[in-house]
Amino acid sequence: MEKQKRNTKTKQMIMSVLSDSSSALCYDDFAEKLREKMDKATIYRILQGFCDDGMIHKIVGENGKTYYALCHHCSNEKHNDNHLHFRCVRCETISCIDEPVSISPLPSGYKMLAVSCIVSGYCPDCLTEQNEKVAK
Ligand SMILES: [Zn+2]
Ligand SMILES: [Zn+2]
Ligand SMILES: [Zn+2]
Repeated sequence: MEKQKRNTKTKQMIMSVLSDSSSALCYDDFAEKLREKMDKATIYRILQGFCDDGMIHKIVGENGKTYYALCHHCSNEKHNDNHLHFRCVRCETISCIDEPVSISPLPSGYKMLAVSCIVSGYCPDCLTEQNEKVAK
């Protein structure tokens, strides 16, 4: 029972790190923020559990790193995360863009399971800064 309780608390800590962030976080971000509270294996195991439960989804960046973001309409039965992901080349954050990705039909013989789409460029914050610099 004690163990169960501790587990719940650990999960809550990980969830709040993610919900406090406006962008997706990579594994290192969690490890960094929770360094004093839990070991890396625990973080990894809980993140994996959240993915299985349809609470978060993974995004693999062009840099090969895996990022995690909150899901909005998913369940443990099915993830519906075929939306765009945006990676800012300046601040290197990854954000979910709530627009479904439309993919042209695949050639016959292929069956699509998931779409992973990353657009890179400048996020609104960085774009504003960039424009202000130019204006000066
Ligand atoms: Zn999902
Ligand atoms: Zn940015
Ligand atoms: Zn997403």
